[in-house]
Amino acid sequence: MTYNPDNIFAKILRKEIKTDFIYEDDYAVAFKDIHPKAPVHLLVLPKGSYMDYTDMLTNASEEEILGFSNAIVAVARQNNLIEKGYRIVFNVGSGAGQEVPHLHAHILAGF
Ligand code: AMP
Repeated sequence: MTYNPDNIFAKILRKEIKTDFIYEDDYAVAFKDIHPKAPVHLLVLPKGSYMDYTDMLTNASEEEILGFSNAIVAVARQNNLIEKGYRIVFNVGSGAGQEVPHLHAHILAGF
């Protein structure tokens, strides 16, 4: 399978679909999930074109992987979740319920 640049998160990253980013750095962006499944539900996307976590860990540079990982923690910190606790979820592949084929971490909190 190859990365499909027509997916909705690719369009958001290219700013073809307007979305309010709550975080952005060289490696990642974050925004609120449009259909929150917890009181806090944020999505963190790497800027690189990776379909899922396996694709990124297989094909990305260590710098990109570290940058993405740091961005997840930065978003958690920005939202005061370090002390409160938070869940990180990656749906990997359609069999796991992944709907959008651009890697994203779900940050869920406030249960
Ligand atoms: P997944 O099932 O892991 O691929 O998760 C995709 C998530 O993206 C779902 O929780 C959706 O609610 C969310 N989502 C889809 N489109 C948008 C959008 N335009 N803005 C924000 N969140 C979105």
